[in-house]
Amino acid sequence: MRLRICHLYPELLNLYGDRGNLLVLQRRAEWRGIAVEINRISLGDTLAPDKYDLFFLGGGSDEDQGIVARDLLIKGPYLQEALARGAALLAICGGYQLLGRYYQTRTNEVFEGVGLFPVFTIAGDKRLKGNIAIEVEVLSTPLPVVGFENHIGKTYPERPREGFRPLGRILFGYGNNGEDGTEGCVYGRAIGTYLHGPLLAKNPHLADYILTLALEARYGKVELRPLPGDEIEWKAHEAFLRRFSKERRR
Ligand code: GLN
Repeated sequence: MRLRICHLYPELLNLYGDRGNLLVLQRRAEWRGIAVEINRISLGDTLAPDKYDLFFLGGGSDEDQGIVARDLLIKGPYLQEALARGAALLAICGGYQLLGRYYQTRTNEVFEGVGLFPVFTIAGDKRLKGNIAIEVEVLSTPLPVVGFENHIGKTYPERPREGFRPLGRILFGYGNNGEDGTEGCVYGRAIGTYLHGPLLAKNPHLADYILTLALEARYGKVELRPLPGDEIEWKAHEAFLRRFSKERRR
């Protein structure tokens, strides 16, 4: 098996080591004998809709998001086509915001989004920042997904809400907007989330879920074999969870 990943705007959208998510996916795939190819696609590059199994976008500052937004509108239809063909996608924070309808910044600039996720984002008065834990139903274990968030943008589902499926429910932290208890958004095989971290380094269950989503379109049902060597990743997960109980006690 071969996994073909497209890393979009790697030099502009890479806050808090978001690129680490791809290293995690690559290692977890290679340990199971799955070859991985990662292509970096950025401003002005063409996007082949039939070439990739997984797209990845990290987070970014408002300034860099503004630069990306214009180019992403051109790539948008190709991305939509790739997802309609079954490709998977993971977008973190700034990348997630730009795949919604729009992001309105603190200075009232409006970055038009691709409209893949039925959400819109408006900057609030304070940064939503700190550790975060969420409950994600689709995973193979009930263990929460943990991470770190830092965003001024507050993301809301469009009305009517029918098309909106959050990635998870907040256990600790803010998530989409700090108001409705939702975090992230899922559309087909695409996942948008506010969790940095890098997210997948601390969440092996979510990493394997995304690998499965990415491989399924091309190879049909995929059962990834367990990785007996991944105790260190699970220790990172546990250590992060312990931090929450301490933060709660404060
Ligand atoms: N600039 C956006 C915000 O502050 C995204 C930040 C991020 O990607 N962490 O909401």
